[in-house]
Amino acid sequence: MKVGILGGGQLARMLVEAGTPLGLDFVIVDPKPDACAAGMGRFIHADYADSDALDRLASCDRVTCDFENVPADALAIIDDRVAVRPSAAALAAAQDRLTEKNRFTRLGMETPGYAEANSRTDLQEAVQKLGLPAVVKTRRMGYDGKGQMLLRDAEDLELAWRKLGEYPLIVEQWVAFDNECSITAVRSTDGELRYWPISRTWHRDGILRLAASLPVAESRQRAAEALVKTLAEDLDYVGCLTLELFACGDRLLANEFAPRVHNSAHWTIEGAVCSQFENHLRAVCGLPLGATDARGAAAMVNFIGRMPAPAPWLQLPGLHWHDYGKSAREGRKVGHATLSARDTAELKLLLPRLEGLLDSGLLRELDSVLDRN
Ligand code: AMP
Repeated sequence: MKVGILGGGQLARMLVEAGTPLGLDFVIVDPKPDACAAGMGRFIHADYADSDALDRLASCDRVTCDFENVPADALAIIDDRVAVRPSAAALAAAQDRLTEKNRFTRLGMETPGYAEANSRTDLQEAVQKLGLPAVVKTRRMGYDGKGQMLLRDAEDLELAWRKLGEYPLIVEQWVAFDNECSITAVRSTDGELRYWPISRTWHRDGILRLAASLPVAESRQRAAEALVKTLAEDLDYVGCLTLELFACGDRLLANEFAPRVHNSAHWTIEGAVCSQFENHLRAVCGLPLGATDARGAAAMVNFIGRMPAPAPWLQLPGLHWHDYGKSAREGRKVGHATLSARDTAELKLLLPRLEGLLDSGLLRELDSVLDRN
């Protein structure tokens, strides 16, 4: 079976790595000639909306995306010729932060307080209503902390307006969460849903730095599953879907969802029976889903900007190295490493060996979470 992927980043690369043993072939489209998945399949260097590229995708058996900001209109052009999974409508639903939050609200999911802002007056009124601190985000095209500004005082509000005022905006209450977490689910064409264990996540400057799969209370896991199920069914979704959450006491607030495989679940490659990448392809291709159980405990560290020297990391038992083959650039995700262990006790024993390798603040936080497990 031939699968077309719009977007040739690291997610496409890991999809190909997971799909090749399933006997799948891949066609990858990306506007960047040096896309890191370019060497992994037949590569088409073209814009996402390029009609020749779309024609070639339409001759595949299935089409999926590694990037949620692929123009949904482009997908809608080919979806009567080829099965596009998840659908153009599901992608469109994640592309606008305002309609995304409105959907959460309509589905009865709690979110941070939010308001639309299309003028300086709207922005001021939103801040009056929501209070400070607050965060301003562009409704579209923002990811990894891009297109966002934290507002602490009236001066920040002016700065934000000057920087982002030309775009449609959303203002959100800044949530003093206890922790951040994500749940990834996979849904098949006949509506079967499976869930991986919750990932605990840590961000810095809006970018995911660390994710861990550790035991969580059964009630928390079930609550997160219920939320992602509601969303997946509402979207009539096919493939992997991640819901990012803020945990505040017993409450789980929906921050955003990703209609694709997601960075917070990269640990599933080595840390789960079937990875998010393999299960996404199984769902997209109409194959039976694989088991989503964790094999033990796992922690995944993102490498941002440039890859570190591998040797000190590779000395760690249970360490899996993923270099995406990208050139170094500030703020860019260039690779990750996953430490997998039989259980949290074994993972904790490895932490002293991460000193000097992992940011000390993150290491302390991981250590204290492991202490509580
Ligand atoms: P986003 O692109 O919306 O996922 O934001 C990236 C990261 O910024 C989140 O994972 C949080 O760490 C932080 N963040 C975004 N929105 C909020 C908010 N309303 N309250 C607190 N932290 C936030």
